[in-house]
Amino acid sequence: MADTITTTNPRTGEALATYPVADAGEVQAAVTRARKAFADWGHRTHEERRPYLTALQRVAVDNVDRIGEVIAAETGRDRGDALFSEVLPAAAGARYAAKQAGRILAPRKASAWPLLTRKGWVEYLPRGVAAIITPWNYPFNLSWNPTVTAVAAGCTVVLKPSEVTASAGQLVKDLADEAGLPSGVVEVVHGAGETGAALVADEVDIISFTGSPATGRKIAHAAAERLTPLILELGGNDAFVVLEDADVKRAARGALWGGMLNAGQTCVAVERVYVVDAVYDDFVAELTKGADQLNAGAGDRNDVGPITFPPRAAIIERQLEDARSKGATILRGGTHSEVPGGGVLFQPTIVTDVDHTMELMQRETFGPVLAVMRVPDEQAALELANDSSYGLHGSVWTRNRERGAAFAQAMRTGTVAVNDVMVNAGFADLPFGGVGESGYGSNWGPEGLRAFCYPKTYTTPRVSPRSELWWFPRRISARAWKGLIRLTLRR
Ligand code: ADP
Repeated sequence: MADTITTTNPRTGEALATYPVADAGEVQAAVTRARKAFADWGHRTHEERRPYLTALQRVAVDNVDRIGEVIAAETGRDRGDALFSEVLPAAAGARYAAKQAGRILAPRKASAWPLLTRKGWVEYLPRGVAAIITPWNYPFNLSWNPTVTAVAAGCTVVLKPSEVTASAGQLVKDLADEAGLPSGVVEVVHGAGETGAALVADEVDIISFTGSPATGRKIAHAAAERLTPLILELGGNDAFVVLEDADVKRAARGALWGGMLNAGQTCVAVERVYVVDAVYDDFVAELTKGADQLNAGAGDRNDVGPITFPPRAAIIERQLEDARSKGATILRGGTHSEVPGGGVLFQPTIVTDVDHTMELMQRETFGPVLAVMRVPDEQAALELANDSSYGLHGSVWTRNRERGAAFAQAMRTGTVAVNDVMVNAGFADLPFGGVGESGYGSNWGPEGLRAFCYPKTYTTPRVSPRSELWWFPRRISARAWKGLIRLTLRR
């Protein structure tokens, strides 16, 4: 195992930062520190934790430039895009946790009907030490938000950020320290898959993983050993459907942004576009016009920057080659070039004449590629949209709101937008997650906070007679029970 990892700027090839790799012993030491911190942090009230969450919100906002700079350098993304897509949701997530965790995780009284002599309630108790393993595509926010959510729920955290973007993960730890969080509440360990695997195998109480389905499966297998609960967010191959009554210009701009933001390296990126025949030609004309105006390059202010993790370019190229060989037309782009320093830049790519035999339509591409398919009608669009092993995000475009809502409901995805795209993840109050190969569990919103807790239920009698009707010796016959069930539970 390498002793260190070094991150590089994909625009220039320049080395950015070097971190020592944590081996299994160091991972265990970090988990032990987090466990020790949990003994205190996990027993504090929400009122006591709230000032720390507010401090996290403050440091996120106060350090907007510093965070933006780290993200732009490590991912090759435009700075403004980095602020919109990572710092804004990070600060909003901390604000949400500060304001809402106490309410969302408050104990809840339970209805006891028909056991009227009882009362019951549930408390949401923190699970303990959370292992948070994250990818390189949105390296700050995808590390920050689960960390803040876990901490708000009363867990302590050992974060293992992607080795490709380790500084963004380190920054989460540094900002947590600057916010004054007690020692051990947020720990970070650096390294590649082996370090992640060591963390999963350690005595952690919950794992939150964001990354590829292949690694997600390995983690699920490993977690099964200790039955560690798991939240998996594993990407998507998201469908974007344009119906004949859509605002075609807006839809085309939405598709272009959804497909090209961060060079398409977004789990909720638009990948498969289905356009109803009646508006297909207009839509494609608008889309190509928009694509022609994008500037792709390795400068600071490019719309589409280089691929963050250069080995990924081979997968994009393979998918395009497979589509070409099966008869697809590359309307725009389709080429890539090397940028100074060895990075890879893909031109914004629009592919038509695609079908579902192509890998492009079956697997996540994770590049600046939009595959557009002409479909006869709404029904065909829905069937094709749902013909996917993934189910993270979907989007439908129509001027008829009711039609849009019905179509959205029929899409088999964890998140969906009508006349909109990719903003679900910007709502701190919405759970975020998918179905199928996109994973399970939720990271944000009330469900996200609860995921880091276990529900503990309590019951106690309102009155305490010496014995109960159902205890031994039996005092109620089957017939009497039948009468009671009918009396209390018949509608
Ligand atoms: P991506 O290439 O999109 O980052 P991966 O799923 O390969 O997707 O990686 C996501 C995160 O999982 C990274 O932090 C990586 O180091 C980590 N990782 C890779 N392999 C394993 C593994 N076997 N166990 C735990 N974590 C892993």
